[in-house]
This record gives sequence, structure tokens and C-alpha cells, in this order.
Amino acid sequence: MDFKKLAGVLRESGVPSFRLKQVRDAVYKNFAASWDEIPVLPAQLREKLKRDFHIHAVEPLETLVSKKRDAIKFCFGLKDGLKIETVLLNLLPEKWSLCVSTQAGCPVRCPFCATGRKGLKRNLSPDEITDQFLAAAHYLKSRGSHKIGSVIFMGMGEPFLNYDSVSEAIRAISDPERIGLGHRHISVSTVGHVPGIRRFAKDFPQCNLAISLHAADDELRNDLVPLNRNYPLSQLAKALKDYIFMTKRRVFVEYVMLEGVNNSRSQTGKLNAWLRTVAAPKYFVVNLIPYNRTGGPYAAPARERIKIFAELLEKAGLEVTIRKSLGADISGACGQLAGR
Ligand code: SAH
Ligand code: SF4
Repeated sequence: MDFKKLAGVLRESGVPSFRLKQVRDAVYKNFAASWDEIPVLPAQLREKLKRDFHIHAVEPLETLVSKKRDAIKFCFGLKDGLKIETVLLNLLPEKWSLCVSTQAGCPVRCPFCATGRKGLKRNLSPDEITDQFLAAAHYLKSRGSHKIGSVIFMGMGEPFLNYDSVSEAIRAISDPERIGLGHRHISVSTVGHVPGIRRFAKDFPQCNLAISLHAADDELRNDLVPLNRNYPLSQLAKALKDYIFMTKRRVFVEYVMLEGVNNSRSQTGKLNAWLRTVAAPKYFVVNLIPYNRTGGPYAAPARERIKIFAELLEKAGLEVTIRKSLGADISGACGQLAGR
């Protein structure tokens, strides 16, 4: 919600300032999505606001629920007609995680990712990011479902190429007077944008950081993550080293598994060696993400081969998890968000 604009509208109409606080609580705490859901406001004011002011900057166009009911994908329309996607994931019993988008499209163009395929349309505003939370929370509340316990900036787009909006959205989501979710329940996934990692360490040392690595040698990583040409592995290692030194936090290392591309035994050796140039193994959790189909030339390795890859890393002292793929039947899994 564009709170500043609303404050201006109310002030101009001579509405007392306590009304603004009533609206703030109704929208951010009780997830009201329409003016009729805020009955404490005088009817006349509600009618006026209905004409002049949308509560959310995003409008739900379509909502898809996976067969197992453990993933819900929202397609939202923006004011200029662009579309973005947001996914609710039921990773823990009775708690939802919300995966939010930060850009319409993405300029990084990783070849295995559906979001990157069309390039960048534009950056999202802080409200367009925060309101994905408000709209998803409204949906869950209206169905009497459990709450959102964590937010991951892992939807469409590269968060650190839209740093200002992302940091504003983190403030709105964590501000006790607005949504009030603790920083420890907020994670940002970056492809390795070095200046962004450095700012994030200073601004949000309590939030979680995930790095989409996918390869630990520059030649392969230049292909898989084209932004590696701007910030090669040596620079990324330095930034992560400083991040860990400043925050004392563990870093989540994402590794999408592509058969015959980055899943050989020698790749585990390279990954392990590179991580050791950054910090001791206890500072990392390696998250293996089996490739989800996006229509490109790639394929996911067989389950058994992913397990072998994981075991080799574990032998080197690393904590490894294999990501459960939720929502593939609604094209809501990692990398499948295209805003079609
Ligand atoms: N741009 C950021 C955040 C959004 S992408 C980033 O890349 O980190 C979220 C995650 O999904 C990234 O780790 C990305 O590598 C992964 N991903 C992209 N395409 C995928 C695919 N087809 N299958 C599995 N994971 C994919
Ligand atoms: Fe962008 Fe992330 Fe997709 Fe790469 S994986 S194209 S950085 S959204």
C-alpha cells in the first residue's frame, strides 16, 4: 500500500490522523484487502476511498493450488499491465513460506531459468513487493489457514539489482508497526551481486543470505550465471568472506543440479575447495536443487546421482540438503516463474 499517498489523501480531506493508524493496522496486521473490510471507518470515507485508492499495488489475477496442496501460486497484475508470480510453500507443518518476486522478468538470463528467458521488464516498487505478502496473507486468512512464517526473496528477478526497493520491502515486512516478521525469518537469494552482498551485510546482518552458485569454476559459471562475468568467483569469495566475518552467519549455497553439466565428481571437489577459500565448512549449508523443467536443453540428474553428489560433499564436512520440489504441477517450482 502506498502509505504516504494515503496519508496525503486523508490529510487533504481533513480526516483526523488516528484514521490513518486504523487503516495501517487493518491492512498490515489484519490483512484487509478492500475498504469494506475496514468497518471502523465511516461509510462515507470508505466510499470515497473505494473510488480513489487501491489498497494493494498488486491485483490477484489467478491462483493455482498444487495437487498436494503444499504450494499455491499467485499470478498478480501490476498497474501497468505487467504480470508477476508469487508462491506460498508449505515446507513446515502449519507454517507457510512466501517466495516473493523483486523484478518483472530478470536481466541476468541464466539459461536454465524461465524468468530470465524474457529479460527484464522493470524493477518492482517497494509496495509491489510488500503487497505480494499482504495479498497472500489475505488469501490464507480468508481460508482460515495457517500464517506466513517466513519470506524468501527468491521469486522472479535478482533482488540486489533492485536493492532500494528490496530494502524498503524488508523494512515494511519486519517493522513491528506494520507486518512485524523478524529479520531471522527473512532470506534473500542472490546470484552473487557483490556490491549488493556488501550493502546487505551492513543493512540487514540478521537476515539470511543465499547465494545461487551452480558452479565453482569461472568458465562454467560464466555460462550458467552470466553475471559471473562482472563478479567472478574470486570477488564473490572476498565478499562472502567479509559477510561471514561481519555477520557471523551461515550462508546458504544454492546449486541447481543439471545432468552432465555441473554434477560430476570433480565438481564436488571444486565446490568444496572454493568454499574453503571463503570460510570453514560449518559456515555453509549447501542446498541442491534438482533442475525443474523450463523447456531448455537441460535435464535433472537421476535421484541416485544427486545423492552421490550430496554424499561426496558431506564427506568433506559440509551440511547438504536436497530441495523438495513443490509446486511443479502448477509451474510454481524454482525457476519456473515466467508471469505468463
Ligand atoms: N535471482 C535470484 C533469486 C531468484 S531465482 C537467484 O538466482 O538467486 C531462485 C532460485 O531458483 C535460484 O537459486 C535459481 O538458481 C533457481 N532456479 C532457477 N531456475 C531453476 C530451474 N529451472 N530449476 C531449479 N532451480 C532453478
Ligand atoms: Fe534471474 Fe535468478 Fe533466474 Fe538467474 S536464476 S535468470 S538471476 S531469476
